[in-house]
Amino acid sequence: MKQKNNGNWVSWNENLKHNYKTMFSITSEEELQEVIANNKKIRFFGSKQSSADIAAGTEALINMTAYNKIVSYDYNKKTITVQSGLILSELLEAVESVGWCIPCLPDINTITIGGALATGTHGTSGKLLSEYMTECRLILADGSVKTITQEDELIDAVRVSLGMLGVMSTITFQCEPEYILHVKEKPESDNEWLPKIKSRLKKHDFLRILWLPHTDKGYVITGDKISSEQEVIENKGPDYLKHRRTASKILYKYSHKFPWITAIANKILAKAFFSSKKEHKGSLYQATVTKSRGSTLELAEWTIALDKFPQVFEEIKTEINKWSNKSFIHIPMDVRFVYQDNSWLSYAYKQETVTMGCVSRNAATADTYEAFKSIEKIFLKHGGRPHWGKRFSAKDAQLSKVYPKWEAFKELRTELDPTNKFLNPYLTKLVNAKTLVHENA
Ligand SMILES: Cc1cc2nc3c(=O)[nH]c(=O)nc-3n(C[C@H](O)[C@H](O)[C@H](O)COP(=O)(O)OP(=O)(O)OC[C@H]3O[C@@H](n4cnc5c(N)ncnc54)[C@H](O)[C@@H]3O)c2cc1C
Repeated sequence: MKQKNNGNWVSWNENLKHNYKTMFSITSEEELQEVIANNKKIRFFGSKQSSADIAAGTEALINMTAYNKIVSYDYNKKTITVQSGLILSELLEAVESVGWCIPCLPDINTITIGGALATGTHGTSGKLLSEYMTECRLILADGSVKTITQEDELIDAVRVSLGMLGVMSTITFQCEPEYILHVKEKPESDNEWLPKIKSRLKKHDFLRILWLPHTDKGYVITGDKISSEQEVIENKGPDYLKHRRTASKILYKYSHKFPWITAIANKILAKAFFSSKKEHKGSLYQATVTKSRGSTLELAEWTIALDKFPQVFEEIKTEINKWSNKSFIHIPMDVRFVYQDNSWLSYAYKQETVTMGCVSRNAATADTYEAFKSIEKIFLKHGGRPHWGKRFSAKDAQLSKVYPKWEAFKELRTELDPTNKFLNPYLTKLVNAKTLVHENA
C-alpha cells in the first residue's frame, strides 16, 4: 500500500484545504480493514468533488481511488459488483457494454461510486443512485466487515450515510436493460413550465428544467423512451453552444463585486445559449450526462416535497428580484425530480421530491455569494433538505426537524462508531457529537 506523509489535501475547486499526517492509498479490502483498524481517527475520499467539508480533516486519510476494480457480473440477475473507488464513468461504460443501464444518473461522471452513494447523489425522474444498490460490504470502525443486503433493515440507514457508519468496500448494483431516449429541449416562460410539472412527470420518462434566474424563463428538457431503430432528426443547435461555460465564466467575472451584473449577464446568456430548440437521441448516459467541464464551480442544492415546490419557487423568485436583494444567481438553477424512498438520510425519504441547484461559477468568491444564504433560508423555512455533498450551513438542530430519522441515525452512528473514529470537525458539528476524552489527547 502506498503512503504519503505530511501533505496538504485540497478539494477539486480548492475551497477546502487540510493538512494531513498520513495518507494511505489502498488497493484491497484487506488494506482498507488494516488502515481503519490501526488509526484512531480517519476519513476517506474519492474524487474530492464535494463542497461540504466531509471528506478529509483528520490526520490520517484514505485515498479510495486506486480501489477501483469491477469485481463481477451476474448476468441472470443483471447485477454488477464493483470496488467503491471506481469512477462512475467506468461503471457506466461497463454496464452499457453488456446492454444494461442504471436508470437514473447524476450530471457528472468523474465522481467515485463510494462518494456518490455516501452523499445521496441523484439524477432526475428516478431514484437516488444509492437506491439501485442491492448489497454492500461495509468496513466498520474496528476494521471488521459487515455484508449488508436488501433484506437487512440496516440497508436503509447505510445507503446514504456520509461515511459515518463505515467505509463502503464493494457495492452491487441492480441494473436494467438499456434503453434509448428521444431528448427534446426548448425554452419556456415560467408561467408555462411551472404548472406543467406533474403532467410532464406522468408523460415523460425524463424531465429536467434548467431555470434561468432573472429572466422569467426555464429551459425544459424532456426524454421519451423509443426503440433504438426509430429515427430522430438530430438538431444539436448552433456550434457555439459548447462555449456556454466559458462565456458564463467571463460574464460573471466581476459579479462578486457588482452582484447586479448577474441579472444582465443572465439575460445575455439566456438569449445566446438557451433560446434554441434541440433534439437528439441516445442512452440515458450518452444523451444526458455532462462528460467534461472546462472549469470548477461551487454548488449548493436544496430539495423539497413536490407539492411544496411551486410556493418555494415563487418565494425564491420574489426574493431575488427585489431591488434590495444581493442574491443574484448564476445560470442555471437545475430543477430535477426524485421518487420517494425509505433511506433515512435521503432527500426523498417518504416523499416525491424536487431538487434545485444553485451554482456560483466563481468558486474562489463563493463565501460572498449571498444566494447560497437566501436559498437556504427559504428552503429551510418550508422543510427543505440540503444535498449532503454541497454547500449548506444547517446543523443538527435544523436537520433533526427535516429528517424524520435523524435521531435514529445518530443513535446508530454512536453504536457503530463509539469512539468517533469517522468524525472530522465538520461532521462532529453536523451530528452534534460529544467530543470524547481520547479525541483531545
Ligand atoms: C460539477 C459537479 C456536478 C455534480 N452533479 C451532481 C448531480 O448531478 N447530482 C448529485 O446528486 N450530485 C452532484 N454533485 C455532487 C457529487 O455527486 C457529490 O459531491 C459526490 O460525493 C462527489 O463524489 P466524490 O467521489 O468526489 O466524493 P468525495 O467528495 O471525495 O467524498 C464525498 C463523501 O463520500 C465519502 N466517501 C468516499 N468514499 C467512500 C466510501 N467508499 N464509503 C463511504 N463513504 C465514502 C467521503 O468520506 C465524503 O464524506 C456534483 C458535484 C460537482 C462538483
